[in-house]
Amino acid sequence: MQTEQKRPMRSRGDGPPRRRKTCNFCADKVEYIDFKDPNRLKKYITERGKILPRRISGNCAVHQRGLTVAIKRARDIALMPYMAEG
Ligand SMILES: [Zn+2]
Repeated sequence: MQTEQKRPMRSRGDGPPRRRKTCNFCADKVEYIDFKDPNRLKKYITERGKILPRRISGNCAVHQRGLTVAIKRARDIALMPYMAEG
């Protein structure tokens, strides 16, 4: 007797067919991440002021890189904290 192995199929009818995890910046078609927009950047740092890793933020490599640069620049001009105290 052979056991039929049912592979987990892609769930149909459950949300959009292609649920590729694109980054928010790609979704918004942002080419250049503005470092003068701390409200946006804040979503991608932890409470301690650390930059979220890509797998958590869900950003693509290009935008994660741009984000890192933007956050660092924002820090340079004191728009963002380097690290929360304590
Ligand atoms: Zn992207």
